[in-house]
Amino acid sequence: MATQEDLYKVLNVERNASDAEIKKSYRSLAMKFHPDRNADNPAAAEEKFKQIKEAYEILSDPKKRAAYDQFGHAGVDQSMGGGRGGAGAADFGDIFGDIFGDKFGDMFGGRRGGGQQAGQRGSDLRYNLEVNLEEAVNGTEQKIRIPVLVTCGDCSGSGAKKGSSPVTCSMCHGHGQVRMQQGFFTVQQACPTCHGTGKQIKDPCAKCYGQGRVKDEKTLSAKIPAGVDTGDRIRLSGEGEAGQLGAPSGDLYIEIRVRQHSIFNRDGANLSCEVPISFATACLGGDIEVPTLGGKALLKIPAETQTGQSFRLRGKGVKQVRGGAIGDLICKVQIETPVNLTAEQKALVEKFGASITDSGKHHSPQESSFLDGVKNFFDKLKG
Ligand SMILES: [Zn+2]
Ligand SMILES: [Zn+2]
Repeated sequence: MATQEDLYKVLNVERNASDAEIKKSYRSLAMKFHPDRNADNPAAAEEKFKQIKEAYEILSDPKKRAAYDQFGHAGVDQSMGGGRGGAGAADFGDIFGDIFGDKFGDMFGGRRGGGQQAGQRGSDLRYNLEVNLEEAVNGTEQKIRIPVLVTCGDCSGSGAKKGSSPVTCSMCHGHGQVRMQQGFFTVQQACPTCHGTGKQIKDPCAKCYGQGRVKDEKTLSAKIPAGVDTGDRIRLSGEGEAGQLGAPSGDLYIEIRVRQHSIFNRDGANLSCEVPISFATACLGGDIEVPTLGGKALLKIPAETQTGQSFRLRGKGVKQVRGGAIGDLICKVQIETPVNLTAEQKALVEKFGASITDSGKHHSPQESSFLDGVKNFFDKLKG
C-alpha cells in the first residue's frame, strides 16, 4: 500500500519553510543522494535524488507550491499512484501536468493563453479534506466547495456566441489535420487554425471568450465511507473540471487527512490511549472506566500493575474501510503519584513506606533489578 510522501518531508523542511530554507535543504540533500556519490547503491540513490528534485521543482515555485498546498501532490510520482482508495495508477497519468501546469494557472490566475488543445477532457482535481477521528471511523457526509471550470451556460460549451455555431475550419476543411511540406517530406499534423477540432469559432461567446468553460465554484456533497484513514482517496467521477468544448469532465479526488484526536492515536485498525490510574488501583487491582469511540467501557486492572503496562480491549478499535476485522483499543496505564496530601495522609504513606523497607521482601521489582544493575556496575569498576 504505497502512500505518496509529503513533499515537505521529502525535502526535510517544515510546511512554513522559507524559500531560502527549502533551497538550502534541497542542495544538501541533492549532494547527499547524488548517484555519483552513492556507488554502493546507485539505483536507490537515484530514486531518492529524483524524488528530491521533483519536490524542489514544485516547492521552489510559489505558484506550484500554493497549488500543492491546496491540492496535495496528485500524480507527483506516477509509479506510486495506484492502490489506494480505488484509484488506479492510470488515472493519475495526467494530473501532474494538469494541476501544476499551465491549466492550473489559467484556472486560478486568470491567465489566458495558447498551448491548450481544444476539446480536451477536463482535468482531474484533488481536494484535501480534513476530518476528525470520529468522522473517519463512522463515516460522514460533508459539503465541500471547490473552484472549477464549468461548461459555459451562455453557449452550452460550444464557445460560439449565442445564436451562432462553430463553422467548419477553412484551413483543414474539417479534417483537423493538415499536410505540410518540409523539405522533401510531406508531414501530417494537427491543424494550427482549429487545433485539430475541425471547427472554427468565428463569433466567440462573450462570457467564456470562446473557451466553452467559465470559472466557478461548486458545492458538492461528499460521502466519506466509514473507516477511512489519512491518505485514502475518494473518487467522484465526473466532478472535476469540465471538458473543453463539450469534452468529458475530469474526476475529483478527495484525499482524506484525519486530524489528531485529543485522546486516541490510531494505527490502522487499532486505537491506543493513555489511561491514568491511582496508586491504590495499581497495587490492589480494580475496574476502571476507559473512553472508547463508542462510549465508556470497563477495563479490569490486575493487582500489581506497573506504570506503562498495556491492556487490550478487543473489538474497540476501528473497522477499516477496506474491510477486515475490527481492531482493538490498547490502553497504556500511567500510575499517578497522589498530590496535595493532608498531614494525615502523608503520615500514612510514611508508615507504609517504612513497612515496605522493614519487611525486607521484594516489593519493588524495578527498583530491585535497577539496584542489582548498579551494584554490578560498581563491582566491575572496582575489579
Ligand atoms: Zn460561452
Ligand atoms: Zn482546421
